[in-house]
Amino acid sequence: MSRRKFLKTGALGIGALLTSKITANNNTISIPLFNATKGKPIVISTWNHGTAANKAAWKVLNTGGTALDAVEKGVRVTESDATNRSVGLGGLPDREGKVTLDACIMNHENECGAVAFLQDIENPISVARKVMEDTPHVMLVGKGAFQFAMAQGFPKRDLLTPEAKKAWLKWKESEEQKKPEVNSENHDTIGMLAMDEDGNISGACTTSGWAYKLHGRVGDSPLIGAGLFVDNEVGGACATGLGEAVIRIAGSHTVVELMRHGKSPDEACQIAVERIIKKHKDIKGLQVGFLAINKQGEVGGYSVYAGFNYAIKSKKIKKLKDAAYKMEW
Ligand code: ASP
Repeated sequence: MSRRKFLKTGALGIGALLTSKITANNNTISIPLFNATKGKPIVISTWNHGTAANKAAWKVLNTGGTALDAVEKGVRVTESDATNRSVGLGGLPDREGKVTLDACIMNHENECGAVAFLQDIENPISVARKVMEDTPHVMLVGKGAFQFAMAQGFPKRDLLTPEAKKAWLKWKESEEQKKPEVNSENHDTIGMLAMDEDGNISGACTTSGWAYKLHGRVGDSPLIGAGLFVDNEVGGACATGLGEAVIRIAGSHTVVELMRHGKSPDEACQIAVERIIKKHKDIKGLQVGFLAINKQGEVGGYSVYAGFNYAIKSKKIKKLKDAAYKMEW
């Protein structure tokens, strides 16, 4: 079974069964909970790896912690998962066999931090947070980002696992490498958005990027406004998929601005996807998905192609949801 098919069929769907129980005449009846995704605290994140990440984020949110701590703790789980081929440790490398990582984080005060083209550090999201909190800058890249991480006491670690190395060596021998394409098997990212008990929103986005990319390539994921954007007056958004396409429309910022002008999270994500489709002459195989949350705690998502899903966790909901989409593969 292809991974995407698995993603579609493997949804937990627990939320779909959620009901509210009311008692009348000593009989308990169940009614569906409409707008069940509303309410704080809440955390959402991209893809099925979001379920485990949400669990860690929820521990923070459920004990009165901040959205910022929640998103950092949450996505660290995915970064440190050696079996995940698209984020942090175990991520697929670039054409030269180097695992290079992109990440950013943004809080409810429009403060943000990012690292790009970072190597040998397992948890780039925490380095991004340090950039935000301990420097006057927003973004550090490459060797400079690595030196900063070392100075901050982050351990150095080779992120290329034997399995990822094997996949890269196989790719090098294949025909595919002559014509690099983003397809459903060679990319993914964790983007996470959380709203805490105080109603504050933060977000995080982290990836090893497009597998077998050119050495030095940076995608949308560490770019504030593209891979992630939060405006605490309005909401937050994050992106996954072909970063180049997301950058071209400043994707996550676009989604937040659409919500500012009254669109729901679902509608805002859909309009951003439609803009990507409109701005690309050839959309064939170009997957992008957006995820969004607004100030009311409503969430939504939308993708170019079928198969994008996201994990939701709140007091009432634990669910992996298939996003609506424009096209079938
Ligand atoms: N957006 C990421 C990038 O372009 C990859 C992905 O989400 O699939 O690097």
